[in-house]
Amino acid sequence: MWSDLRKKTQSSQPFYNLTPFHANPLLPQALRDGITQVWFTKSIKTFGDLYKNGVLESFEDLTAKYSLDKKHFFKFLQLKHYIRTEQGGRLLPVTKQPLDDILSRKEELKGLKSYMYIGINSLLEKEGLKVREKWEADLFPNFEDAGWTELCEKAQRFSYDSKHIVTQYNVIHRIYHTPERLHNINQTISQYCPRCKSEVGSLLHMFWSCSQLSSYWETILKTISKITKTNIPPEPRLILLGDTSILPVRGNKIKFIRIALTIASKCIALKWKSEHLPPSSLWLSELTSCIPNEKIMYNLKQRPDKFEGIWDNLIVHLNTVDMAG
Ligand SMILES: [Zn+2]
Repeated sequence: MWSDLRKKTQSSQPFYNLTPFHANPLLPQALRDGITQVWFTKSIKTFGDLYKNGVLESFEDLTAKYSLDKKHFFKFLQLKHYIRTEQGGRLLPVTKQPLDDILSRKEELKGLKSYMYIGINSLLEKEGLKVREKWEADLFPNFEDAGWTELCEKAQRFSYDSKHIVTQYNVIHRIYHTPERLHNINQTISQYCPRCKSEVGSLLHMFWSCSQLSSYWETILKTISKITKTNIPPEPRLILLGDTSILPVRGNKIKFIRIALTIASKCIALKWKSEHLPPSSLWLSELTSCIPNEKIMYNLKQRPDKFEGIWDNLIVHLNTVDMAG
């Protein structure tokens, strides 16, 4: 609805100086859940607060200005990536919207704006939406029909290992019993995430936006980026749903990236009720354990070259880690 409104009003620019940062339905749930509330209390209330003279400030500058927690660096990277994507792939300066001036001058209208944003926000979080609509509400922007169908089809054939296919299916179809879901069934069960204990354990929170997961995902994305020599952006659409259309690579690299990311989700599911993060070493050992079966599979198909194309970079990486260790 919000995006329809924006289209109708021809609001082409994604952000203006006074675009609210906290409780803004334009922001993906991953960001709204992660930092906007905390940053709001530190006086980052609008997008303009992230900018100086129209230019997005560095994390160091923002930390100094608003005393932000250093552990929010990964969230800042996600935010920057989101802003860049929304602005068509480049970081552009923000400008003032003519209406903002009028609205901000009238004291009595000030509350109205945030009231409207929060109202629209709560509409987006309605229960009973279908899987795809739930992901759209979580991640934004919308999936096209064809794009969504392709995503579901590819999820069924990216790996020979049925365990990977099942994990990817379970994430896409949101079958996990999240604390939020269990709480709705039985009110005596806590709705809060067992790791951070401060946010509602929604599906997106449990797999992605929990502040406790930042270091886990940061390590994994960094390692995959290094192995594949491809920058893996902190984009839940890619990481959780396997939408590789946003990556500039194809073929063997895509195969490896998908398997590696799916195993990362699986490791979170393995430690579902734990207070502790899954260690990234668990991810690496799960990933490594795929190698023998994959080798047999590709040999049977008489495609040892394909096996090498997909797995050799990981094997090289493991050797360098071994030597360093
Ligand atoms: Zn949490």
